[in-house]
Amino acid sequence: MSTSSTDGNMLPVMEEFYSLQGEGCYTGTAAYFIRIGGCDVGCEFCDSKAAWNAAHFAPTSIDDILHRLQQFTTRTVVLTGGEPMLYNLDMLCDRLHAAGYRTHLETSGSHPISGNWDWICLSPKQGSHVYEHFYRRAGELKVIICHDDDFVRAEEEAAKVRQVNPDCRLLLQAEWSRRQSLTPKVVNYILQHPQWTLSQQSHKYIHIR
Ligand code: SF4
Repeated sequence: MSTSSTDGNMLPVMEEFYSLQGEGCYTGTAAYFIRIGGCDVGCEFCDSKAAWNAAHFAPTSIDDILHRLQQFTTRTVVLTGGEPMLYNLDMLCDRLHAAGYRTHLETSGSHPISGNWDWICLSPKQGSHVYEHFYRRAGELKVIICHDDDFVRAEEEAAKVRQVNPDCRLLLQAEWSRRQSLTPKVVNYILQHPQWTLSQQSHKYIHIR
């Protein structure tokens, strides 16, 4: 079954919803979320495993997305997944901008970029290659801490991004299932390395999507 079109007019949308951004620099702000199916990264801690197989989601047209989106008052649209960069999002971003929306992207950086983005949250994953253009264009680098040695990986990623993009915000976030043991370590680390900022999955604490 075809789940997308090469021109990006049809996308395998898993879900769309209006909520508050739970993580990162825009925490607490209203946005319309579009979760696109398909991901080949395979993180052990992934909280969106149901999104991995794009064949499970019917191709959805940009017209349909815009029609539903216009019911809500927000001017911000967040593309998440899965891994949205598996698809050509040039047309989607152009249509969203033409309609007056800001475009935000959540990505692992593991595929070449498409689309014109007002904000990119780059969240590199262990063992996954990151395309260099994401380091240049990210507004925020968000590293998920699962194990103690992830602090080393976070610094390696920060060095790469800061070399080409000195204004990029640096965020550390404890992996949700281990948050009780890891959050104190993340807090202590930031106290000693204040170039980093704490990110938490606030939507899960207040039981919203
Ligand atoms: S990149 Fe994101 S969606 Fe893909 S497996 Fe990792 S956490 Fe899940």
